[in-house]
Amino acid sequence: MTYASVIVDVPAKQTDRVFDYEIPDKWEGFIQPGMRVVVPFGPRQIQGFVVGLKETTSVKKTRPISNLIDISPILTQELLQLAQWLRDHTLCFTISAFQAMLPAALKAKYEKWIIVRDRRKLPPHLELFFDSSDRTRFEDFEGTGHYRLIKQLIDDEILEVYYEVKDKLSKKTVKVIVLSATKDELKEAKKNISARAQAQHCLIDFFLETGKKRIEKKQLLEELQIGTSAIGALVKLDILQEVDDERYRDPYAHREFAKSEPLALTSQQQEAISPILSSIENEKHEGYVMFGVTGSGKTEVYMQAVDAVLKKGKEAIVLVPEISLTPQMVNRFKSRFGSDVAVMHSGLGMGEKYDEWRKIHRKEVKVVVGARSAIFAPFENVGIIIIDEEHETSYKQEDTPRYHARDIAMERGRFHRCPVVLGSATPTLETFARASKGVYHLLTMDKRMSDQGMPTVEIVDMREELREGNRSMFSRDLLEKLQIRLERGEQSVLFLNKRGYSSFVMCRDCGYVVECPHCDISLTYHRISNMLKCHYCGYEEQVHASCPSCDSDHFRFFGTGTQKVEEELTKLLPSARVIRMDVDTTSKKGSHEKLLQQFGDRKADILLGTQMIAKGLDFPQVTLVGVLTADTMLNIPDFRSSEKTFQLLTQVSGRAGRHVLPGEVVIQTYSPEHYSVELASTHDYLGFYQKEMLLRKSHQYPPFYYLALVTVTHQELTKVVTVTERITSYLSGQLSKEAVILGPVSSPIARIKDRYRYQCIIKYKREPNLHQALKNVVEKYQSQMDQEKLAIHIDLNPYMLM
Ligand code: ADP
Ligand code: ZN
Ligand code: ZN
Repeated sequence: MTYASVIVDVPAKQTDRVFDYEIPDKWEGFIQPGMRVVVPFGPRQIQGFVVGLKETTSVKKTRPISNLIDISPILTQELLQLAQWLRDHTLCFTISAFQAMLPAALKAKYEKWIIVRDRRKLPPHLELFFDSSDRTRFEDFEGTGHYRLIKQLIDDEILEVYYEVKDKLSKKTVKVIVLSATKDELKEAKKNISARAQAQHCLIDFFLETGKKRIEKKQLLEELQIGTSAIGALVKLDILQEVDDERYRDPYAHREFAKSEPLALTSQQQEAISPILSSIENEKHEGYVMFGVTGSGKTEVYMQAVDAVLKKGKEAIVLVPEISLTPQMVNRFKSRFGSDVAVMHSGLGMGEKYDEWRKIHRKEVKVVVGARSAIFAPFENVGIIIIDEEHETSYKQEDTPRYHARDIAMERGRFHRCPVVLGSATPTLETFARASKGVYHLLTMDKRMSDQGMPTVEIVDMREELREGNRSMFSRDLLEKLQIRLERGEQSVLFLNKRGYSSFVMCRDCGYVVECPHCDISLTYHRISNMLKCHYCGYEEQVHASCPSCDSDHFRFFGTGTQKVEEELTKLLPSARVIRMDVDTTSKKGSHEKLLQQFGDRKADILLGTQMIAKGLDFPQVTLVGVLTADTMLNIPDFRSSEKTFQLLTQVSGRAGRHVLPGEVVIQTYSPEHYSVELASTHDYLGFYQKEMLLRKSHQYPPFYYLALVTVTHQELTKVVTVTERITSYLSGQLSKEAVILGPVSSPIARIKDRYRYQCIIKYKREPNLHQALKNVVEKYQSQMDQEKLAIHIDLNPYMLM
């Protein structure tokens, strides 16, 4: 008897361990670690992951596995192990770690198919399963005792597994004509069909001569040069059938990618790449920080390093921040590596994501370019991991497991003995501090590719503008510069920091602000629907004509959305053609790319947008970048607000003058003297780093201290307060005197979806007891968490303190 050790899908403390199940005879030799199965658990049937096989078990009464979910392992041995690491380092349950590694499609409903890859080698007794088509449902083999043989045939690439994911978003089907008559029946039919129905004869002859059983309708029509009515006639006679067949959805298939050749590296690039190449060559895990100003040619270095990896027959993982936002980056990789590249990002439909994942799983591609979760790409021979724009906060997952892609990259890099490259013009303080200490190797690229060097940056004090009577959101300076670009036929980019700019509604007489009844946050005005919406829970209501509190008519929208900027812009510069990019104009699939394409084709003079235009854009004709207000980000309650402001301003400025034409940047601000604004304007990362490090040290923040955030939520305020109080006092008993515990306090957003939120933050340097203490907390409240819907979130190394 063989047993399978299974992690069951019950995310709870008590079940976070392996359970042993019997493998029924029919599945002996078929079930492997990394497959999902259905097992009896108490009275229920639930899902689980097989993590190991064994000959004996210490469990007295074992029960058999009831069913299979996967037909081949979906997690590699390495990923199974990595889940343990995630569990220990983010305090999640193993099952949550597994789930995080899979594309969403595999968690949804799908059908399992077995497809014939090589019909010639198919054993004769299996032929009847595939006589009418090259695929058959996995369930058709139930009771046949063929499972072990099927596994063997899958391993030998004679059969293959296909999960058909139902995907409304991007379901792509083609019409296929299937023959449903035998040869004799065909000959018989030919006799009965009128000789004048030439096309029908032609069709029958085709099936008789080629022996084909199914063919795409389009192809058939083209090949025989006949119309659809002949097919229809034969369908009526039950000779042919017309069916929908699902196809690979390749979102990039329709596009041509001109092949690009590696460029001759500059000496600066050469210096940066050579240590990476030697790590690849010597199969050595090393961390590199590629600290390169915007436009210094980092991407070219990435691609050549990837090329070296491919030449060694290995694979590459390239993470880019939310890639749908940077189609240019995808294009560059696609044109260099062609069909070797899989692309994974949130803009894809569930089925599309699965298709891309499957290409990796089947080793059809060697490179994955993707957002955060692509770090779990099931490659087995990784030769390099690159994280571009490593400072991006989207690399941190805000749900369980609360991991940072950078940490996973290092862990996988250690396993595969390969280099990990963290690239940025503005590395996080954590990363740069590690580079300074020699934990990572620092590779500096301080020169831009273009001869123009860094753009000149001018800071405009908006308070001054107001004093001199300019109430517009455009300073005179910026307006004049925009005007000049229009005259010269050059392009400009205008950047609006969304945060703090969302348009809330306030009464000018009594100060009343319309808030969400379920969350302690103001509602945002949406012009298109003329509604007020909550961005946290989706609540919406009608716009009031007058103040609900004092009945005043002075009830207006505050803040400036991109729409308002656009309106003012067209008033001030009527001849300017403006493209606006924000959540409203880009919510439709592919619209983001279309807008960028239009701008690239010079169909507009000004690109106006939010954060989403800050990154990765590279347009030669852009010579002016304007930041409408630099300081909205400075005012958020987060110790990283200066760092984020500096990063953003640097990124945005980097969009100007990347090519032949020199660039200019105008930053409008209400706090021109703030060091993050000042130092960004002089492109002084090192100056910023030093200044900010001093502040972090004196305020005991990372990278000098670690942080842990415990958030408690519940529908009753008294409940969250008491629980958070108890947790805080328990923790202070467990930790050393050096640890600082802040709290309990209300979270910055005190209520979301009718649940109150309280938190405590722990700052510490070395606390060997902390993890255990936090685990104990979760364990202690486990039963309440189930019954009373109390929720306790633990985030080690939080990025959002909200
Ligand atoms: P980064 O990723 O650092 O912002 P890019 O890789 O986008 O910089 O490079 C900026 C520009 O310089 C791009 O247009 C790129 O094609 C070009 N470039 C990069 N390396 C070279 C090179 N060795 N020779 C010529 N042009 C280069
Ligand atoms: Zn009022
Ligand atoms: Zn709400």
